[in-house]
Amino acid sequence: MLSHFTYLRVLNLLLGIALAATSFYLSFRHERDQIFQRYTSEVDALASSLELELGRNIALLMSFRSFHEAFPQVSESGFSIFSRNAREFNGGVYGMKWAPRVREGERAAFEAELQAKYGIRQITEISPAGVQQPAPVSEEYYPILYSEPAARQELPVGYDLASRISTRTALETAASNNQAIASTPIKVTEGGISSFIYFISLPLYSRNAESEEERWQNLKGFVVGLYDIDAIFDNVLDNAWSWDASNRISLEDNSGQISAETVISLHKGDNVVEDERFEYTKQLTPIADLQWFLVGRPSHAYFQKHRTLFPYMLGVGIIMFSLMIEAYLGVLRRVDKELQDAALVDGLTRIPNRRKFFEHLNKEWPRAQRFFRPLTIIVSDVDNFKKYNDIYGHVRGDRCLHDVAQALQKCIHRPGDVVARYGGEEFAIILPETTLEAAREVADKCRQAVQDLAIEHTGNAKYGVVTISMGVACAVPEEGLHYGDLIEMADQALYESKEKGRNCISLYRMSAEQRHLQPKA
Ligand code: GH3
Ligand code: MG
Ligand code: MG
Repeated sequence: MLSHFTYLRVLNLLLGIALAATSFYLSFRHERDQIFQRYTSEVDALASSLELELGRNIALLMSFRSFHEAFPQVSESGFSIFSRNAREFNGGVYGMKWAPRVREGERAAFEAELQAKYGIRQITEISPAGVQQPAPVSEEYYPILYSEPAARQELPVGYDLASRISTRTALETAASNNQAIASTPIKVTEGGISSFIYFISLPLYSRNAESEEERWQNLKGFVVGLYDIDAIFDNVLDNAWSWDASNRISLEDNSGQISAETVISLHKGDNVVEDERFEYTKQLTPIADLQWFLVGRPSHAYFQKHRTLFPYMLGVGIIMFSLMIEAYLGVLRRVDKELQDAALVDGLTRIPNRRKFFEHLNKEWPRAQRFFRPLTIIVSDVDNFKKYNDIYGHVRGDRCLHDVAQALQKCIHRPGDVVARYGGEEFAIILPETTLEAAREVADKCRQAVQDLAIEHTGNAKYGVVTISMGVACAVPEEGLHYGDLIEMADQALYESKEKGRNCISLYRMSAEQRHLQPKA
């Protein structure tokens, strides 16, 4: 049968393990969420830097407008000085273009100028198949006239910005509202590196105008800034000292059909966390009509870098705590056992007490009954002990009882035998598997051992030393016989010994009807 201590220990260990596992899991998850929170604030900071950098680059077009107000004639040299400087101080400016407004009536003169300057004969457009071809007749054109750097052909000289109907409408709206407008980015490959170039066009007017109508009339053309968004992004990342390079971050624009291509991903560190919950998207303030999103995902390395030992320490701490409780329970169990044992020992004589005597008898009696085995009880009583106390005092009386008890204990050797302090100066012995005759020998040995102690006792006149009297009774327990009966018999025998003059042994002889309880020899 499991003791309540064993239950407690198992429960403690199970609870300890469950609690440790749960706390580890919860704190591990909490820490992970906090690290991700930290990541999102880093992305936010990066987004702010990016907004600043984009704004700074785009503000260039505004400066060109101011420049144009001071020098209304857009001359080739003026344009190229301005745009060269712009490129030099802004890593993100890929190029600049000037596209004047050319009405149908001015086309021939314009084309003559193109021919003279660049050897290009006509205003062109790009066919759906990607072929450059003469632009069809239109009310007006916005062909590229100046290009810086000149060598770059992403929007070739002569190309009509408004040749596509969708672009034309957008340009017209921008012109009427005096707005900057972004057009579809194109992919440019240079030296094996591809980047997306965004075009932002700003209308220039010959005079300030108040109404849409007036503006439309005063429109002079468009100055176009070409931006290498990848370079701007790289630049910002290089300056973001806190940015962890092992994370993936990308910049996406809002144009549905090309967003996949315009993802500018920096796969600097692979092993990005796959879980979509850890993707963070930050919407940037729109610039021109462009909406950008910064999309980032932290890497495993990022999480590892910011993890602490706390969840592990918590788990181990709880396990250790439950091991401590386990050890404490072990100590309690030992103490409990010691207390239980102590409760069965007589404090004065250091031999088993009356309680232990009956506990033992309760075990041995049914056993003897089951196997038809004899069981003997001997009771003994110190002779004239009242006088001993009177003569030598209680303290010596106690010491005498102790010595007598120890002497009796030494006479008992077999594992099932027990000698106990039964009453004040009475001792009782249980001898399982022992016949009356065999018990007589044990009893006599005990009696002799006490006499041999030679404790002076003048009140025990006949012997001059302390002696004991004994009564012995034996039975094979049968139905109807209680061990109390056997003790009673032994007591009667003891009484007989006292009657006979003390320091002797009497055996209880059964009557005829009790005889069948006797062991068959
Ligand atoms: P008898 O030979 O007939 O047994 O005479 P007796 O004087 O021994 O009589 P009885 O057995 O009735 O006396 C028991 C006495 O034992 C009474 C009490 O003073 C003494 N006694 C009982 N327990 C203790 C004890 O723990 N310490 C001491 N010192 N004396 C005890
Ligand atoms: Mg007595
Ligand atoms: Mg006595």
